[in-house]
Amino acid sequence: MEAILKSSKLLNVCYEIRGPVPERARQMEEDGHRIIKLNIGNLATFGFDAPEEVVQDVIRNLPNAAGYVDSKGLFQARKAVMHYTQEKKIADVTVDDIYIGNGASELIVMAMQGLLNNGDEVLVPAPDYPLWTAAVSLAGGKPRHYICDESNGWLPALDDIRAKITERTKAIVIINPNNPTGALYPDDVLKELVEIARQHQLIVYADEIYDKVLYDGATHTSIASLADDLLFVTFNGLSKNYRACGYRAGWMVVSGNKKIARDYIDGLNILSTMRLCANVPAQYAIQTALGGYQSINDLVAPGGRLARQRDIAYDFLTSVPGISCVKPKAALYMFPKLDPKIYPVTDDQQLMLELLQEEKVLLVQGTGFNWPTPDHFRLVFLPNADDLDVALGRLDRFFAAYRKR
Ligand code: PLP
Repeated sequence: MEAILKSSKLLNVCYEIRGPVPERARQMEEDGHRIIKLNIGNLATFGFDAPEEVVQDVIRNLPNAAGYVDSKGLFQARKAVMHYTQEKKIADVTVDDIYIGNGASELIVMAMQGLLNNGDEVLVPAPDYPLWTAAVSLAGGKPRHYICDESNGWLPALDDIRAKITERTKAIVIINPNNPTGALYPDDVLKELVEIARQHQLIVYADEIYDKVLYDGATHTSIASLADDLLFVTFNGLSKNYRACGYRAGWMVVSGNKKIARDYIDGLNILSTMRLCANVPAQYAIQTALGGYQSINDLVAPGGRLARQRDIAYDFLTSVPGISCVKPKAALYMFPKLDPKIYPVTDDQQLMLELLQEEKVLLVQGTGFNWPTPDHFRLVFLPNADDLDVALGRLDRFFAAYRKR
């Protein structure tokens, strides 16, 4: 019998956050090693509990949650999201414009499936959260990566965006706050992005899943609040702001110039009905989460657990010879740079495997975020201060040994 091959649609699809290096870590764990995992933004596994009222709401409603619900989601959940969009000053959103999904992830894939014909292009940041590149490719599209500029706080390089637009460019993806860089885009940059989208009639996909994970008193502007003549699709959910990744509850909001997008919206509706509905128990938590006490604010405030861990990781990384790092203003990650003169890495996946083997620390290589050169890695600063110290000490030893090679 002939070998069974995967679909050619998967040729350019990869997701390194759970790729070969984490797979090796899993095997090592099976062999009895204890691995410090700094590869994934899974808050609950680091003792960041979801708000108690949110958990209780899911438990209380479980007996009512055995049936399918509307494909776009529970009315009360969408109503709560609608109020949230008003807080974020996104105009003219009705309950009908909101789709609840099994995490933002499902909706990102759906949004791309509904839009792209083979060969259509989408501007995606580099580095990116790699689901975006994967979702564009899986839908037959071509991701065109625009550079975010490390020397400018990882803000999108507007000239690079302009240079990469062709007649096949349909949309631009903006991840703000950004994973993996921790950048938070100021309003003037967002306005310029809107202007570019306007000039080239691009749909704006705004991934704002970290919009409450903001340090140093920063505030977040939803790009969809800045114009009503373009089509915006904004993504958010319970995974990060409410530390409930495992509930798989996210949402997508269509706003702006919905009139020109009737056919696309019809496509989104078809796709959402095809999978009947998203996980119902978690949808009950959305109203409570959005309307309840915003405990994330305590974690990111000066002295809060997340803010302290960011500072520990940043102070450490910037003290290692040959490593530099932009201080994150938001989210849960850092994307440090290895000076190629000191660390002449040619294969960053191999580097991460060596780190794992030698020091039992799991990180993800920069190229896993579609960064073009093997000179970055992403670190998740979620372990508590003691564990973080241990992990950073091991990194220190690894890089000191590398410098002596
Ligand atoms: N978007 C970004 C930027 C993320 O970092 C993540 C998860 O890490 C997601 C989307 C996926 O979120 P969800 O858990 O809602 O599927």
